[in-house]
Amino acid sequence: MRVLKVLFAILVVAAIIAGILYWLRRYRTEPPPTPTPFETKGRLQIVALDVGQGDGFLIISPGGKTVLVDAGNARAGDDVVAALQRRNLRTIDLAVATHPHADHIAGLRRVIGKLTVKQLLDSGQSFASAEYEKLLRAVKERKVAYIKAGKGQTFDLDSGVRLEAFNPRGNGQWITNVREGGSVENANSVVLRLTYGNFTMLFTGDAEAETEAELVKAKLPMRAQVLKVGHHGSRHATSERFLNAVNPEAAIISCGADNRYGHPSQPTLDRLKRSNVQVHRTDLSGEITIVSDGNTFQVTTNRQTNLAALWVGRIELDDVLAQPQKAASAKAGLKGKEID
Ligand SMILES: [Zn+2]
Repeated sequence: MRVLKVLFAILVVAAIIAGILYWLRRYRTEPPPTPTPFETKGRLQIVALDVGQGDGFLIISPGGKTVLVDAGNARAGDDVVAALQRRNLRTIDLAVATHPHADHIAGLRRVIGKLTVKQLLDSGQSFASAEYEKLLRAVKERKVAYIKAGKGQTFDLDSGVRLEAFNPRGNGQWITNVREGGSVENANSVVLRLTYGNFTMLFTGDAEAETEAELVKAKLPMRAQVLKVGHHGSRHATSERFLNAVNPEAAIISCGADNRYGHPSQPTLDRLKRSNVQVHRTDLSGEITIVSDGNTFQVTTNRQTNLAALWVGRIELDDVLAQPQKAASAKAGLKGKEID
């Protein structure tokens, strides 16, 4: 009998200990692992160029290699050329056309015409537009090496700086299932992960929630200190799940002060605010520069940011048009639906 009692007591104690261990494992939040300090080889610079409504990002590695991710529309292209010349850049090692819409690629054509561009990484989507055709013609004429983008491709710059493609899928496979009113070109944007030591930035082009869901599902290393916000801050991009996976400290929104698309949208700004992300907008701050030594990063802006305006989204003109009383007056100044 006594033996049974002792055995019972041991069982009870063991069960309690097992319970405590289970609870600890399940509910204790592990502190993030402290990264091994990176021995810096210089400064990596990323500049969100002031291209108005569009995207244009310049990356300069510590050893001076240059990457240009999009270059705004045709008008902005001249400003991009000027911005590159101000930095005494004569060569772009890699230009990236995230997708064939004019607010990303028309400026690239200007850059290819004026500077030496060694390679063009293109989403590779077939797209019938005069601007895209002009870009492809310029690539041929200026003998730029043409590379079709695909998941898993890597580009090593120098000093350990690396670009890795997360999207499009590659091998002629495309995301075709997009929301109503969405764009297949946006969904198949080139998504790039830039790493330098412990610093990571994610470039998303105009990818929206469908693409974000696919990236999260693929369990790619999404975590990044800086996020280039997808599709100029559209309400259809930067989903909660994606934001949780990337967990950025800072986010850059590239958009124009006078855009009619409602970029950035209030819901997207609200999601970023709830996630405690430090937001920078080219429409408010002009050119935005990020500098990293491979461990930490600093952000500086051309113009002082208007803090009152920072978390206020822009109005979508199509929303205004939906209200009949305002429609008549607003409609007069509008042309056909443009692609952003
Ligand atoms: Zn765009």
